[in-house]
Amino acid sequence: MTGLRDLPSTDSLLKSSSAAELIHLYGRELTLQAVREALERFREAYKPGQIIPSETEFIAQADKALRRWFEPTLRPVLNATGVILHTNLGRAPLSREAIEAVVKVMNGYSSLEFNLENGKRGSRLVHAEELLKRLTGAEAAMVVNNNASAVLLALTALARRRRVIISRSQLVEIGGGFRVPDVMKQSGAHLAEVGTTNRVHLSDYEEALKEPAALVLRAHSSNFRIIGFTSEVALPELAQLAHRYGVGMMDDLGSGTLLDTSRYGLVKEPMVQDSISAGVDLVCFSGDKLLGGPQAGILVGRKECIDRLRKHPLARAVRADKMCLAALSATLMHYLKGDAEQKIPIWQMISASPTEMAHRARLWQTRLGIGEVVKSLSTVGGGSLPEETLAGYSLQLSVSSPDRFLARLRAGEMPVIARIEDDKVLFDPRTIFPTDDERLIEKIHSALREQ
Ligand SMILES: *Cc1c(COP(=O)(O)O)cnc(C)c1O
Repeated sequence: MTGLRDLPSTDSLLKSSSAAELIHLYGRELTLQAVREALERFREAYKPGQIIPSETEFIAQADKALRRWFEPTLRPVLNATGVILHTNLGRAPLSREAIEAVVKVMNGYSSLEFNLENGKRGSRLVHAEELLKRLTGAEAAMVVNNNASAVLLALTALARRRRVIISRSQLVEIGGGFRVPDVMKQSGAHLAEVGTTNRVHLSDYEEALKEPAALVLRAHSSNFRIIGFTSEVALPELAQLAHRYGVGMMDDLGSGTLLDTSRYGLVKEPMVQDSISAGVDLVCFSGDKLLGGPQAGILVGRKECIDRLRKHPLARAVRADKMCLAALSATLMHYLKGDAEQKIPIWQMISASPTEMAHRARLWQTRLGIGEVVKSLSTVGGGSLPEETLAGYSLQLSVSSPDRFLARLRAGEMPVIARIEDDKVLFDPRTIFPTDDERLIEKIHSALREQ
């Protein structure tokens, strides 16, 4: 049988018994669409003389397409890379309590913008405010969609068409297209650069302050570090100088942290509380970096500043949603109770000891009956603590083609993302939840079988 006129009709295809199953699963309309597309594809690629596939073959193609349409593109994965705040893998996983708080609020209606005391309209901005004030010592706080929008909102509301003084060493790009100078341009603030790439002095700032300005901005360099002949001005001195000239001081901490990272053998990442006590008027940081919560931009500082941000029209465009607010409040409560290290996944991962890591890697090795346990280094990531590493152990596999092996790990149910070092595949237990051990082992097993 040759020739396009022998192609089955959509009607006859839909009447076949194998189509009945698809119609049952996906409905008639969608099955029809999938069948039509399968026929269309064949028609377009058809070359004279080509054999016409069977009805079953067309239905099988429709089935494949329908499955694909119902497969979410946003799926859970296992992160075996050892990069704790992996921006491409969704940054911070939430604590059990934060997840439960989200589920509770999403199950029905909530008091998002409703004052339960007086029965009147309330503000969504109150939800994490008390917690943030208590934890950071700030007068006021506000939560927006992410830290990029926090910076944009602050600069727009406080410095539009006015000068913002910033050190050249801080005009950074933090990845994902966020460049401090570009965000300043967007906000309409005028960039006033001081100092050089590696050094800036108090006198540089003072010189720039002789002309009117709205803000002195410090932006944390986040994902890179300048070493060698460098100097920066300490925050308390800088804030004091700005205030002497009647100018506000803003600090974009990027990650920011409420816990001292030097307790874990890491360099000390700037702490939010320290910026507030240094006299900074407005501090902003991310919710899903070292805070270990949902994507959010958190602004804390003087009430007068926060009030101006709240009133700005842009605040409505960058507001946080209820899932974020629920998760953020639950995350902050861990810090208030003092159980952040035990309950927030990223702090569990950061504080995990090398011994624990060796134990987990050995467990995987035993279960798989293959591979070697080797010393390895994990990183914090997420634009914090550049060059800093956490010592641990990983399971190392030698395979014929590491790239193909990684591709097999990414395919199918529960993709596993691992890394290659020295032509060998490494699985770092630091970023794998112990409750996922079985799934990881199963996945590695099947990838090995397919070799
Ligand atoms: C990460 C970062 C941002 C952006 O934060 P998001 O929450 O990703 O929007 C802004 N500034 C600095 C310095 C950062 O490190």
